[in-house]
Amino acid sequence: MAEAVISRRTVLKRGLGTAAGTALGGLAALGTDLRPAQARAATLKIADTRQYPSVCPYCAVGCDTVVHVSGEGENKRIVNIEGDVRSPVSGGNLCPKGAATYQLHINPNRLEQVLHRAPGATSWEVMDLETAMDRVAELTKQARDETFVETETVTNPDGTTTEKLLNHSLGIFSLGGATMDNEWNHIQQKLMRGLGVVAIENQARI
Ligand code: SF4
Repeated sequence: MAEAVISRRTVLKRGLGTAAGTALGGLAALGTDLRPAQARAATLKIADTRQYPSVCPYCAVGCDTVVHVSGEGENKRIVNIEGDVRSPVSGGNLCPKGAATYQLHINPNRLEQVLHRAPGATSWEVMDLETAMDRVAELTKQARDETFVETETVTNPDGTTTEKLLNHSLGIFSLGGATMDNEWNHIQQKLMRGLGVVAIENQARI
């Protein structure tokens, strides 16, 4: 008689056990693997790479980056670019633009050939780099020669005139982009000043 008496606790335990068994059985039937998960470490893409310190090219804040490069010779390839935690400027942080610097270098949409559209033409033609560089140099020299002003005569309040030294060309405007690095901008500035160009600006400064 005593064995026939089932306490409320026993009923509860049996009920939960049955429910759990049914649920687990259902999951197993659905193909769910109930064995303890085994963590597998993925190989880091930066494993065995060389690291080069660099600077984000996009704006004047100049956040530091680390460029990870793998391979040798012609197989050398950038595999990752991230913030440099040693940076006194940014402490390893990059804004969304800087964090996407990798795709500036590795991108199927990146043009790798010079395209030229002749005056009046409606389509672009591939031009080899040497020809393109010569064409840019020719046109730059032509524009500079046609617009270079050595002096200007100004009339003073008393009616006399003064010859003012200018040595400038207003026919050329230089606009740099944020992806141009310090070294490029240094040379660009020297070249433009040497030509007498005074309208020099860079988007990264804005
Ligand atoms: S674009 Fe962003 S990450 Fe790059 S230098 Fe400027 S603030 Fe830093």
